[in-house]
Amino acid sequence: MPGFHRLTREERGQVLAEWLQADAADVFGPLQQGGLSLDTAERLAENVVGIHALPFAVAPNFIIDGRETLVPMVIEEPSVVAAAANGARIARAGGGFSVRVDDPVMICQIQLFADDVEEARGRILRSEEELLSSAASADPILADLGGGPVDLEVRIVPPDGDDPAFVVVHLHVNVLDAMGANAVNTMGEFLAPRLEELTGGRAGLRILSNLADRRLVDATTGIPLEALAMEDYEARRVRDGIVAASRFAERDPYRAATHNKGIMNGVDAVVLATGNDWRAVEAGAHAWAARNGVYRPLCTWQKGDDGRLIGRLQMPMAVGVVGGTTQIHPNARLALRIMGATSARDLARVAAAAGMANNLAALRALATEGIQRGHMRLHGRSRELG
Ligand code: NAD
Repeated sequence: MPGFHRLTREERGQVLAEWLQADAADVFGPLQQGGLSLDTAERLAENVVGIHALPFAVAPNFIIDGRETLVPMVIEEPSVVAAAANGARIARAGGGFSVRVDDPVMICQIQLFADDVEEARGRILRSEEELLSSAASADPILADLGGGPVDLEVRIVPPDGDDPAFVVVHLHVNVLDAMGANAVNTMGEFLAPRLEELTGGRAGLRILSNLADRRLVDATTGIPLEALAMEDYEARRVRDGIVAASRFAERDPYRAATHNKGIMNGVDAVVLATGNDWRAVEAGAHAWAARNGVYRPLCTWQKGDDGRLIGRLQMPMAVGVVGGTTQIHPNARLALRIMGATSARDLARVAAAAGMANNLAALRALATEGIQRGHMRLHGRSRELG
């Protein structure tokens, strides 16, 4: 969609309606009023007194796993949508983004205090099958659809000073197309009494871990050198600048934090547009980034053997297309429709690609003219309005 950003709002709506093969008024009428009724808002939170609206935008140019994709983004920060479209346009030259998505497996933690933690671990592991089928019975809908508990892991958290060791059971649950927090929390609470009985111990906390490291996305892109050239900068300089910026983030947590913030600009905007829990995705992203004890970038860039710029992003992506707010907020349903996501995997792919596109555009600008030129131009527009 070349020139999409130069169209009027109405023209953009028309183009989108054609893309969706729908009537523009039907699709965009409610959207332009914020999409959410007060009655629906009351179903989502407590003590509601109103509705808080944010811009709902669309970034074009994305090719994700060979498919042309429009990316809906909800964001209040100028230049993020433009950067996503820009990054996606550059990545097109190499065929766009390829994203491998893990099975949607979430982890539920059940903490257990027992006198003999090793003995407790043995008893739990010997009863694994019984425990898995017992946990499955807590969510018959998920089980009927082919999801449910798939594995069980028992960790021992060692003593710390006067605090004794304790057991943590990790129940791995395939949550299919849900984000899965409620689903696995229910199973954890259901299973805890049986674990107490089995071990003679006492259950502590029973809740999911947001470090969803069984549910990673692994996105890559390979951009031909010539696609990186800019008006005042030759391609080789841009590529080497992006690689150097990536190395900076790999070696310095102060830089990695900002690098990752730029990735989350894209990821969060997609997560928010689809009514998903962006705090959960944020928590998972940063815990994953620090998993080896040093905070590291979620996305890195290297020079490939053929001179291409090769990017790779890995991070947990706990998002769903059913459950939570995803089917309650009309705009969230519309966002899923715009991006053509019918499964949690599809959505995870799009969020990953958006994160990577934003990272690419930011590093390209930082490695050359800096980000302020483009940013202030767009920021100026929001100041004029305000
Ligand atoms: P949910 O309970 O609304 O929906 C999941 C349920 O939908 C499943 O348990 C299943 O019974 C049913 N279902 C129907 N069709 C399905 C399908 N195709 N695939 C999977 N399940 C299907 O929501 P959820 O996804 O379990 O939990 C998400 C919500 O939990 C979000 O609102 C999130 O904010 C909230 N939450 C998050 C945390 C956290 O991240 N720490 C903690 C508590 C709650």
